[in-house]
Amino acid sequence: MKKIVVNIGGIKIGGDNYVAIQTMCNTSTVDIEKTVQQCIDAANAGADIIRVTTQGIKEVRAMSMIKKNLHSKNIYTPLVADVHYSYKVAQEAAVIADKVRINPGNFAKDDETSYREFKNLIDICKLHGTAIRIGVNHGSLGKRITEKFGNTPIGMSEAAMEWIDMAEEFSFDQIVISLKASNTLVMYDAFKHLYNKMISRGVVYPLHLGVTEAGNGLEGRVKSAVGIASLLQEGIGDTIRVSLTENPVNEIFPAKLISSYSTPREIDSPLPSNYECSTISELAIKVACDYGPLLLKRKIDDFHISATINNSAIQKSDLKNLKDVVLQASRRKFTKPEYIACPGCGRTLFNLEKAFEEVKEKTSHLTGYNIAVMGCIVNGPGEMADADYGYVGEGAGKVSIYRGKERVFMSVPQELAVDKLLELIESDAHNRDGHLHF
Ligand code: SF4
Repeated sequence: MKKIVVNIGGIKIGGDNYVAIQTMCNTSTVDIEKTVQQCIDAANAGADIIRVTTQGIKEVRAMSMIKKNLHSKNIYTPLVADVHYSYKVAQEAAVIADKVRINPGNFAKDDETSYREFKNLIDICKLHGTAIRIGVNHGSLGKRITEKFGNTPIGMSEAAMEWIDMAEEFSFDQIVISLKASNTLVMYDAFKHLYNKMISRGVVYPLHLGVTEAGNGLEGRVKSAVGIASLLQEGIGDTIRVSLTENPVNEIFPAKLISSYSTPREIDSPLPSNYECSTISELAIKVACDYGPLLLKRKIDDFHISATINNSAIQKSDLKNLKDVVLQASRRKFTKPEYIACPGCGRTLFNLEKAFEEVKEKTSHLTGYNIAVMGCIVNGPGEMADADYGYVGEGAGKVSIYRGKERVFMSVPQELAVDKLLELIESDAHNRDGHLHF
């Protein structure tokens, strides 16, 4: 079997290389000072690769200046351009970035222009030593793939496979694949399907693992740990990102811990029943890495542990809460609303972290509901695939409220948006059942 190694600005991923840690700036890329500072902070925290938003040509030019500025400070952490939509932007970015991320759901393979422009992109990448990430997201698979396979893990895997085929047709192997979903089981199944397919074809490309829209706090860390550890423990995955709706620097410690703690192991390896940790976050990640994969794969139904934090026994209520969070992240028992919150990026034009906290606070009684909080109207609605309701940033200070894929309210002032979201959920419940029963 051939294992492809991809060089991203000097960091090699794939094959027997270590699992590289990634993060993404959430600053506006044209704010060069802020983005440079966030890159420095992330690099100092241990990020191996940093992504920035390049939705247009002006952001690509800003990225060029950010790169120069970082180099002048002796920081050579590879930069990835997050493009999604436009080939023109991707082609410009490929001259500057170490890797370009495109989302195949936004381009039709059978479209002649896309085919030609993808070849042009590859020619530029070959010339400049730039890698490509084929970044498939659950919820933005494109009409053709969805009609054929549904919005399913197989659809995600098949969408990626088409682009692998095309890259191979153009004799280009510097590609990394990601298949991200906010549902840990969908994410696990999609990667597993793709990995098995690559094995059967005899060529394995590096995989970028991550649970997208994982949220924040303990829930975000645990969800990421369950999804990523489930694959790393099977020897699947070459680079990871823990996406949190927080400062990107906060993503590095959990990512490093998940990676170091999730080396390949047998499914029936003995597990610790007592943990001695320094912080609740460390404990949560270790427990999620140990028990999450077994719960997700239905090898166990429950677990019992004890723990000390800094030599003091953990409170019973904290332990119970942690267990509930792990069970929910593993899709086994739902005791709280399921939140789908993107990490935000250069496309976010409002205080996403604050908005998410407000939504969580006011909807904490809605167990059984999937509620999304997304940073932009461009990608948000497509990517909140499983959400019953969504709070989607439209622009500065304006929010759209969604029921599933339907936009019910638009241009709601941000200060009224959470109440509008609640009003919609409550009126739907009332119309459905004639009474409220949260
Ligand atoms: Fe950025 Fe969130 Fe929009 Fe994705 S949904 S592009 S992370 S703001």
